[in-house]
Amino acid sequence: MNFIADMSLINGAYFVSALLFIFSLIGLSKQESAENGVLYGIVGMTIALAATIANPAVSNIQTILIAMVIGGSIGTWLAVKVEMTQMPELVAMLHSFVGLAAVAVGYNSYFDLHGVEGMMLNIHLVEVFLGVFIGAVTFTGSVVAFGKLNGFLNSKSLMLPHRHKLNLLAGVVSFGLMIYFVKQGGDDQSLYIMTGIALLFGWHLVASIGGADMPVVVSMLNSYSGWAAAAAGFMLGNDLLIITGALVGSSGAILSYIMCKAMNRSFISVIAGGFGTTTVVSEDQDYGEHTETNAEDVADMLSNAKSVIITPGYGMAVAQAQYPVYEMTKKLRDKGIEVRFGIHPVAGRLPGHMNVLLAEAKVPYDIVLEMDELNDDFPETDVVLVIGANDTVNPSAMEDPNSPIAGMPVLKVWNAKQVIAFKRSMNPGYAGVQNPLFFKDNTSMLFGDAKASVDNIVKAL
Ligand code: NDP
Repeated sequence: MNFIADMSLINGAYFVSALLFIFSLIGLSKQESAENGVLYGIVGMTIALAATIANPAVSNIQTILIAMVIGGSIGTWLAVKVEMTQMPELVAMLHSFVGLAAVAVGYNSYFDLHGVEGMMLNIHLVEVFLGVFIGAVTFTGSVVAFGKLNGFLNSKSLMLPHRHKLNLLAGVVSFGLMIYFVKQGGDDQSLYIMTGIALLFGWHLVASIGGADMPVVVSMLNSYSGWAAAAAGFMLGNDLLIITGALVGSSGAILSYIMCKAMNRSFISVIAGGFGTTTVVSEDQDYGEHTETNAEDVADMLSNAKSVIITPGYGMAVAQAQYPVYEMTKKLRDKGIEVRFGIHPVAGRLPGHMNVLLAEAKVPYDIVLEMDELNDDFPETDVVLVIGANDTVNPSAMEDPNSPIAGMPVLKVWNAKQVIAFKRSMNPGYAGVQNPLFFKDNTSMLFGDAKASVDNIVKAL
């Protein structure tokens, strides 16, 4: 490893990596080109790592290589082991690492100023302060998101009294500390206090956002982790890290905005920690009786249908039912029955979760439609199969202004002639609210693991 590259060569390599990352994002925006997008990302990251290690300023290559082998092994082990249903937790955990890294870089570049002076020192101190602040918020926020997504923490929102005032106070005090920190030319106490405040702030911000708003939190933390990386780039004077951080930060912000629009939520209210989401959940409401059915009857009903819509949700991912679902789809299509899939923007636990599962099972893209593309088609649909979906097909989002999911657009499946709901019990979905759909006259429950139920229907067909 005596190879020390010329700085201009390294900058050239960084430029190529940055371009590849942009191509990667473009590729990832469509299912057809997603595989290429991933490939561009891998090549870009390999070039970036090689160029960084070859930088003449890097002295301790052995330590870096050891860290890379350890990190790479853990990463590979996790990637092989992780179930599709655990992906959101993994992503949240990875965001927390980015936040923690930004805090570590911030402290390191504060204690080791490398003789920076004058105006440059002020700028550097602002970078350090902001980097540590964003990193600490991202760290605890992501840890709470991880806990909520894997069920370790309650997914309902934490309603601390005066929580918005507390959030505002945390912001104002941190800003005051930053001014003091810069004026003093650096001050350990201010940095420590702000780190403590930012850690609590991140925890509180995510803890106060309730179940159904979690998708926005995940993409928002994705955005924060990008800005934390960009801040680390400024502190380290690494252009590629700045570009990559900005790409992740802005794409995460755009995704959060799109998801807020899809869920009819105000972007500001969600990022301000569930502002204006005080709702009343009536636990003991009587919804009436539900009807049960079995696989053979559903197979009969499907055979006599002309049009079928399948609306998958998180339960399809848990059951890994996408393969038999496609088997069933093929059988129905062979009988001349029109089958389409209706995908809610926040179905599952990850943006695009259902699309990934269906693509994995090789379901043709042209029969997989967005919610808005078929939401008006339900009245002309003979049978809707709600496979492991719950919140995304809950009519109370439209009918009950006090529901925690009030205002969220949902798939209007209840307008179809017959609805079959596949689930294991009458338990509520992720937002923790009961679903009146299951008690409607045209809905029948098919209880059991979704994969086993669909397998039985395939056999009966
Ligand atoms: P829900 O989480 O609302 O409901 C899933 C349903 O699947 C449950 O009713 C459960 O019922 C059923 N289920 C679970 N396992 C199985 C199984 N093995 N077989 C059959 N059924 C099963 O799902 P949706 O997809 O409708 O909604 C997603 C929710 O998650 C929304 O509230 C969304 O806001 C939130 N969210 C989404 C994220 C995203 O980015 N997409 C991220 C974070 C949260 P039972 O236990 O009775 O079987």
